Amino acid sequence: MNRPPVDAACHPPELPALHAQAFPMLSPDQIRQAAPYGEEVRVPAGTVLLQSGGEEAAFYIVLDGYVEVLESEADGTQHSLLMHRDGEFTGSLDLFTDRPNAVTARADSDSRLLCLSRAGLAQLLLAEPVLADIVLRAFMLRRIGYLRRRPYGGAILRSAAGVGQADRVLDLAVIGGGPAGLAAAAYAASEGLHTLLIGGSLCGTDAPGAQALPGFPGTITGLCDGGLLRRAESQSRRFGSHVMPVRVATAFDSTSYPYRVWLDDGQMIEARSLIVATGLVEDGSGEGNTAWLDGCLDTDELGCILTGRAAAGSMQARAYESSQPGVFAVGAVRAGSVKHVLASIAEGAAAVRVVHRFLDASAH
Ligand SMILES: Cc1cc2nc3c(=O)[nH]c(=O)nc-3n(C[C@H](O)[C@H](O)[C@H](O)COP(=O)(O)OP(=O)(O)OC[C@H]3O[C@@H](n4cnc5c(N)ncnc54)[C@H](O)[C@@H]3O)c2cc1C
Repeated sequence: MNRPPVDAACHPPELPALHAQAFPMLSPDQIRQAAPYGEEVRVPAGTVLLQSGGEEAAFYIVLDGYVEVLESEADGTQHSLLMHRDGEFTGSLDLFTDRPNAVTARADSDSRLLCLSRAGLAQLLLAEPVLADIVLRAFMLRRIGYLRRRPYGGAILRSAAGVGQADRVLDLAVIGGGPAGLAAAAYAASEGLHTLLIGGSLCGTDAPGAQALPGFPGTITGLCDGGLLRRAESQSRRFGSHVMPVRVATAFDSTSYPYRVWLDDGQMIEARSLIVATGLVEDGSGEGNTAWLDGCLDTDELGCILTGRAAAGSMQARAYESSQPGVFAVGAVRAGSVKHVLASIAEGAAAVRVVHRFLDASAH
């Protein structure tokens, strides 16, 4: 087969470690593990597998061939972002949400692919923790990396250290860095909200408040092992931003607006909106990790946060919104949520849309 050269621009030299995790190559054994969840297909060169703006309906692993990923400009022209080669896979967090696909993927040569439907991918991720680790980490990094190419400038994940200087009031503070909080922060930052993510697994296993994700050893937590976090931080400074250091939210004040959250080092941050994604306490009781909220939000008998109609008692209630306007809850800490990693990611992504609506409404 005549193999095209891979575009060097697609592999930013300054991000080799992040790039390798965002675009990993599955081993033959891992591909064999994935095979029962999908179907092998052969496609001619030029076949469009995913269309920008459409629903991202399938996940493809390249068995033999090349798949090019293209991004559309505002004027409709497309430019090449990268080329997937044998063992690499397409896909993004959008596979778990109802958001339109951000890119186009097209076979660049006659190719043999393993095609998994959304349902097939979900089954694979729930049954195969090692593959889940690789795929979810890649999706998360692809979304976070996406913001670097966006023209927002200010769309960033900030460190608590950066708060209190310029842009004192955040658009959004996300509390808890499990799958729900990570997805929320990744979407919010990539969509231009001035976002801070506080605490949780993103901050590395040496961090207070950090923990391995139960059932998914290393999933997403591995995103930010110490070394990766440091590299990400040094990269992000080049964009005038910071990746958050290790912090735990210890108190919340809902009596003033912008809302105030205190961190374990005594710092106070101010935010126009909040997403609480602090999961459940680890003792197996099923209780929400909400003691730090000190009763400011309505919860059920297990301390999980009531949202939507259950919180507001109104048909007009915003999804994911707690009894406090502009304070949202997603993932395991939300009363009535499906306690699954993929459901948590979908909630984190979906809640950001509602945050946009809240911020737009409160700005007028
Ligand atoms: C034993 C076990 C096995 C499981 N197996 C599976 C499985 O096989 N498949 C599956 O889909 N799901 C499984 N789950 C469920 C899955 O782990 C959860 O549904 C999912 O992790 C919820 O994601 P989350 O982001 O809402 O919360 P979490 O993953 O709990 O993340 C919350 C984060 O917030 C941080 N945090 C807490 N308090 C604070 C604070 N005050 N300030 C800052 N940060 C804070 C925590 O440190 C944590 O990192 C399992 C759960 C358990 C307990």
